[in-house]
Amino acid sequence: MARRAARLTEILTKLSTSRFGVFSAILKTKTHFGAFFCCAHHLNSPAQRGDNYLTLGILNNYPPAQRGDNYFALRIYIGMRIKFKNKKFLILGAGKSGVSAKTFIEKRKGIAEIFDDKEPHDFETSEFNYVVLSPAITKDHALLAAFTPNQIIPEFMLGLNRGQMRAFAITGTNGKTTVSRNLARALGVSACGNIGLPTTSRDTKERKIVCEISSFMLEHSRLSELKFHPKCAAILNITQDHLDRHGTMGEYIDCKAFAVKLARKIVLNYDDKNCRKIGRELKNRKKITWFSTKSTVRGYFFKNGFIYKNCGRIKKIADIKDFGAVAAHDIANILAVLSMAGERKMKRIVKAFDPNEKPRHRGEFVRELNGVSYYNDSKATNIGATLACVNSFSAPIYLLLGGRSKGQDFAELFSKLPKNVIKTYCFGESKKQLKKFGCEVCDNMTAALEKARNDAEETKQNAVVLLSPACSSLDEFKSYADRGDLFAQTVCKFE
Ligand code: ADP
Repeated sequence: MARRAARLTEILTKLSTSRFGVFSAILKTKTHFGAFFCCAHHLNSPAQRGDNYLTLGILNNYPPAQRGDNYFALRIYIGMRIKFKNKKFLILGAGKSGVSAKTFIEKRKGIAEIFDDKEPHDFETSEFNYVVLSPAITKDHALLAAFTPNQIIPEFMLGLNRGQMRAFAITGTNGKTTVSRNLARALGVSACGNIGLPTTSRDTKERKIVCEISSFMLEHSRLSELKFHPKCAAILNITQDHLDRHGTMGEYIDCKAFAVKLARKIVLNYDDKNCRKIGRELKNRKKITWFSTKSTVRGYFFKNGFIYKNCGRIKKIADIKDFGAVAAHDIANILAVLSMAGERKMKRIVKAFDPNEKPRHRGEFVRELNGVSYYNDSKATNIGATLACVNSFSAPIYLLLGGRSKGQDFAELFSKLPKNVIKTYCFGESKKQLKKFGCEVCDNMTAALEKARNDAEETKQNAVVLLSPACSSLDEFKSYADRGDLFAQTVCKFE
């Protein structure tokens, strides 16, 4: 132990005497502080209240690092180390991630109990050393009050914790699954997290990790003392969503911003005003790689059919035609993957974005009948996704909207709908809200589809009937996939 501590002090001393501009190194070491990770940064910002790190100054009897100091400080994330053996874990939520967390803990000789709100409980919270939160658990859950931040573990951090320095974390309102899946394909690894594979069930031997992260998961991260510091974190875009859970747009943005706070590389969308604001407020802006479909940014951008890299010198790196028929919002997704994987992976990125291998229910062509084309975009569960989809068509659109609104203000949708949206139809829980904007009210989705079909067939031009509902499906369906399947099956039965 003493030898290890002496070795660490030796390394720190060497670092402190080096004067090579920005220094960045990672020492993976188990120190006598019980820390798992040591991250060395060029510390150009003073210590923050509540930051859990030691500076080199403390170790070498220097005063703590201040802005402008010309010595290097070593930030050691002592953070919280999860102990498993004989420790008791209370898992909140009996879904896929809760069940997977239980197996993960038991494999490491911990004791895990799953609790679901639907069942009564007869345990004392004080029996437990830790509480593990499944994404659906809200921060005001009654059982959470009994735990302190160093006992709270977001489920995704349980599986990611020790590997997170190799993690590529992806968040945003829309495009997370597309970008996570395609980045994983480009890097030749699997994707986990919100994409449907809990981090606790991933292959821990993989060198790199791609992890899709939702705002619910990030909300839990803010409650926990476990620091989230991935290798690279990207925010794709931030528009209205999940306001029923987060309360305000400000709170939703703060959750998303948390993904990049401690990341070593940050990827942000310059076309999105909320991402720009997050970038402006970051302390170390040198870590940011921007991407844009509209402006010449430092990072990767799209202009006149080509993709460019700008790292001081502008270089053309790809022709968008190589990607086949990609929709406009997919160009943003391509740029996001490129910003994370780098252009050396270009061939693999082109392959990953093959339009024929798009995940289902995302602008998916179903069939053409009597001059009308039917598209299933059931995964568009918010206004931003619906706007992205309608903007990818130039033909007249008959648009099906409805489901659970999640606190969205539909005025934004209707003020931005393009002129080629001829008529809108609504169904489900939000139909009253949508009616105010002139939507034709229908009993359910299939009734809306029938009406849209009749109207579209009367149009003599090539029309599009599009399910891109801007709402979640959970009021009437088990999932967005169920809703999309019913749409596609009904369309396939049309004669
Ligand atoms: P998420 O996992 O964030 O829900 P998906 O990749 O599953 O994202 O796509 C969800 C919906 O958002 C689909 O309807 C898709 O067409 C749309 N979408 C995908 N990428 C973007 C983007 N960059 N901007 C806006 N909408 C997008």
